[in-house]
Amino acid sequence: MCLNCDATRRGFLRLGLGAAGLAALPRRSRAFWVKPMIMLDPGHGGHDPGAIAPDGYYEKTITLATALELRHSLIETGRYRVAMTRMSDHFVTLEGRVNLAVEHQADMFLSMHCDHLPEANLSGASIFTLSNKASDKLAAAVAQDENSADAPPSGAPAGVSPQVASILASLETRATKIGSATLASDIASSFSARIPLLPNPERSANFAVLRDPSIPSTLLEMGCLSNAEDERRLRNLEQRRLLVARLTSAIDSYFNDPSRDRVAG
Ligand SMILES: [Zn+2]
Repeated sequence: MCLNCDATRRGFLRLGLGAAGLAALPRRSRAFWVKPMIMLDPGHGGHDPGAIAPDGYYEKTITLATALELRHSLIETGRYRVAMTRMSDHFVTLEGRVNLAVEHQADMFLSMHCDHLPEANLSGASIFTLSNKASDKLAAAVAQDENSADAPPSGAPAGVSPQVASILASLETRATKIGSATLASDIASSFSARIPLLPNPERSANFAVLRDPSIPSTLLEMGCLSNAEDERRLRNLEQRRLLVARLTSAIDSYFNDPSRDRVAG
């Protein structure tokens, strides 16, 4: 039996809990009954071009094209619902992006970007998770580039005491950290030997767009626009299709991996 299929969902609704009951379930319980919701976040847009390649090509153009292709690939599997923080060339604040993920009760948030590093010989993708302390100088510099506004964390659950809310928030944050790290690792494994990676590709830093404590969130730098070979690869449709196929595979691995829900002791 497919737990994500519409027939199962209709069966759940027949139990009398209805759509409101589904929405009220904790995220991981809800995912048992409905297809996971993936929020894709193409970086930058509108007046914010993001990184600019030496020949003037914009990061915001590559992130949107790749996110639209990934959306199509994920929907085609029949296993996911997919939403996007933007589907055209317009600006969305970092806080607005996180809020959209919360409003959609996303089970995963994937922010998609391209790097621009000071050394033109550096190339390859890297995957970032949230940490107050950057894993290294390069990660700190990337976070500084990508952060243009702070996003506050989502509020405590309603109807519980502050003490219980604090414990729940702590558990949620720990579970989310494990989910985010699992997703980053799944992407790195899926890319390995097929998509070029920076040395030490799994890094962490304080990215505003990754700060919701309840949604496993990862920021992917798909390559470096400061590197001519990476720029060529990111602008090439066939190469982007390969990247999208590897990301789809990584997301499949993530949702098939029970360890993503494990809360560290
Ligand atoms: Zn960016």
